[in-house]
Amino acid sequence: MSSHTTQTSVWNLAWRTGVVAGATGMVPGLINSWESVHGGGRAEVPATIHLLAAVVHGESYFIAGFLLALLLAWSVRRRVVLSRRAFPVAVGVPLVVFTALGIAINVLYLPEFAKPSSLTADGALLLLCVGGGVLLYRRLSRPGGSTGGSMRPWFALALLVLLLAGLASLSERNAAVAETPLGEPSAGLPDILFVLVDTERADHLSLYGYEFPTTRWLESLAPQSVVFDAAIAASCHTKPSTASIFTSRYPPAHQARRLEETLPPSAYTMTQAFRAAGYRTAAFSANGLVSPTFGFGRGFERFYRQEAPYFMLFDLSEILYRVYIGVPVAGYAAGGVLGTFLGWEWLLMPSRRESDSLLQKAEDFEAAGIFKAVGDWYDQVEEDTEHPLFTYVHLLEPHDPYEPPADLQKSYEQLLGGHTSESYFPHYVGGFLPFTEGPAVDEEHRLGLVARYDAEIDAVDAAIGRFVAGIRERRPDRELLLVFTSDHGEEFYEHHGWGHGHSLYEETTHVPLLISYPGHLPAGLRIKERVSMIDVAPTLLDLIGVPPPPAFQGTSLLPTIQGAGADSRSPIFSEIFWGAHYARSFSEGTRKLIVATHGREERAFLFDLEQDAAELDNLAERDPVALTTFKAKMQQIVEQSEAIAVQAQAVRIEGDIADQMRALGYID
Ligand SMILES: [Zn+2]
Repeated sequence: MSSHTTQTSVWNLAWRTGVVAGATGMVPGLINSWESVHGGGRAEVPATIHLLAAVVHGESYFIAGFLLALLLAWSVRRRVVLSRRAFPVAVGVPLVVFTALGIAINVLYLPEFAKPSSLTADGALLLLCVGGGVLLYRRLSRPGGSTGGSMRPWFALALLVLLLAGLASLSERNAAVAETPLGEPSAGLPDILFVLVDTERADHLSLYGYEFPTTRWLESLAPQSVVFDAAIAASCHTKPSTASIFTSRYPPAHQARRLEETLPPSAYTMTQAFRAAGYRTAAFSANGLVSPTFGFGRGFERFYRQEAPYFMLFDLSEILYRVYIGVPVAGYAAGGVLGTFLGWEWLLMPSRRESDSLLQKAEDFEAAGIFKAVGDWYDQVEEDTEHPLFTYVHLLEPHDPYEPPADLQKSYEQLLGGHTSESYFPHYVGGFLPFTEGPAVDEEHRLGLVARYDAEIDAVDAAIGRFVAGIRERRPDRELLLVFTSDHGEEFYEHHGWGHGHSLYEETTHVPLLISYPGHLPAGLRIKERVSMIDVAPTLLDLIGVPPPPAFQGTSLLPTIQGAGADSRSPIFSEIFWGAHYARSFSEGTRKLIVATHGREERAFLFDLEQDAAELDNLAERDPVALTTFKAKMQQIVEQSEAIAVQAQAVRIEGDIADQMRALGYID
């Protein structure tokens, strides 16, 4: 047999396998789209999604089957003559079964992806599918056909399982809690429940005067609470902003800014301070960016996170979509011939929408799963009446995709006078204001997105209300100190951007902040002054009588709450940092400076928030003196922060967290 004929037969096998996998893959595609339409409580989905889901699944499974068969056939072809009929079925069908079943089982039934039970289940499913494939091959090929050469793919698959397990243990490694010993609690400490709802801009909450009743529960809580009317997040993206809350440091000081960056071990967190003060600590996070993988596990004895969507990486239409987002040309190639006729957006966006209905299911599952997990933890610590609890709950709901319950969506569409069947803001990559704007849409579409977003805020507000009511009943002998806030807001084209992470206008940095501690804080107090979110952790520690750790940049807001003057508050500084482009903002009095940098280009904006709340009238050129002063003050904060960060890095090199704690004066 010449090498040319061998190669032809390998290609032939790959092509046939692709056809088998593609045809089989249409079935899970149809099941998913059927679920999207009939799942109940979902947003409206066009009927064409059935056809498109089948086509996209068929096409993506064809590509995967083709590539897998090429790899397998190539690796064993020298030792075995492969059956042209049995091989495509024995590779194509198990491939579809593994990915489709794997996604369904992980999203719907398994705990976090990195949990040993999940990994074992996924590994078992993988081996089952490979074993099934081998059996299928033996059954379908002639009895004489040997399979002695097929150990290599088994070996490769076993390596894959090991790799997954390795990655999992890597992410679990950070979760260790032993570094902060549980302290002796003083008498009468309250339980602390910290609820953070991702992506909730303050001005869309009726608590802050929004014209529609999005937050009835928060409003009912306000008369017994202190409400901060102008709390400013330290960033407009989840990780840097939440890290600032936990470490009471501005982003240049904690350095957890870009997606791959983690909190340095020296960044002492409020969790550690609570634990040292005798608190049992647990976190329940729906956002993977706030997880032990990125250093947020420090000080928590329990960290619950729902990572089922990670398994979505195995969903082939998701892979296509990611390729499409990341490398448009490769995405077009992967999109195949059908895209030419149907249009790329038509072909790929429904696939994203459809696979996200699964993601959305996971998100719903997370909210429900998170509330349940908190309940389980309360069960676990029920006997422990000696220690108070610090519980951190991070929910994802108003984050896109905007897929609220259908009835709520309808009522907000009527209130706002907008409608869209899209659950995403218009797709764009790498937009950074003011350098790159997002795509414009007509006003009805824009208001439709806002309606969906508002409806999600409403839904999650009611859900948290029910959850907190349940929590209050669990430990009647302890007082409850409740904090409600968000990590950042969301843009709806006010400054020609969408989503978050692209700018530092108020729509992305002004977040809700409410602290309820009846009997200890003035009831129904509204704080008008702008406050930084880095001041929240020191405030909570102040409330339980713990002095602020030296590592904190922020200061307690208690003097402000008690009307003792503004001097104690930290400067209002925010930053979004992606490397090549970044923006920083600083505000004082009624004025706010934003400096955005993109490569060598720099643009400065100076707004008067009192005269121009919408930040449309740039005073930078008209008031060069103020511009210079503000820039200098902002630079000072950056330099102070970076100076602490450098120390943090130096401590990190020693590598021993106990040493750092000693250096910070927390242990002897
Ligand atoms: Zn976020």
